[in-house]
Amino acid sequence: MAFDDLLEANRAFADAFSLKGFDGIAKAGVAVVTCMDSRIDPLGMLGLKPGDAKIFRNPGGRVNEPALEALVLAVHLLNVNRIVVIPHTKCAMAAQTEDELHAKINELTGTDSTWQRFHVVDDQRKALRTDLMKVRSHPLIGERAEVGGFIYDVDTGLLNPLD
Ligand SMILES: [Zn+2]
Repeated sequence: MAFDDLLEANRAFADAFSLKGFDGIAKAGVAVVTCMDSRIDPLGMLGLKPGDAKIFRNPGGRVNEPALEALVLAVHLLNVNRIVVIPHTKCAMAAQTEDELHAKINELTGTDSTWQRFHVVDDQRKALRTDLMKVRSHPLIGERAEVGGFIYDVDTGLLNPLD
């Protein structure tokens, strides 16, 4: 069935389960907002391990409303005092226009998809600057956390500063 391999792997995972007894705080005080892209290992790329960080992912790694909800909770209730926003090179959300993306989905589904917004990014650096400002200027976050923005290079594994 569709999930057999995953459930089998889960049984092996549970047999060697080592995360018991954790509380839900971010031990390293870190929250990461990044893309859903499968090339990204959010913990590994920062030298973190399970329990260390809050991870929020979406297409493009954008600071949208749900991301802000998560960050406010993370800062006040989950020990977070450092927030990093990490879009990446070769991101599909920054490689095409909203119209092009809709045209692809329309063709694949044979139906109109324009009612579904995808929030593509025209200029990744500009979008990241805007996103960092959203976090820094949020009245419930503000000075309570250091906020950094980096672009992850999927070809080298390096995080490059915004400027
Ligand atoms: Zn992406």
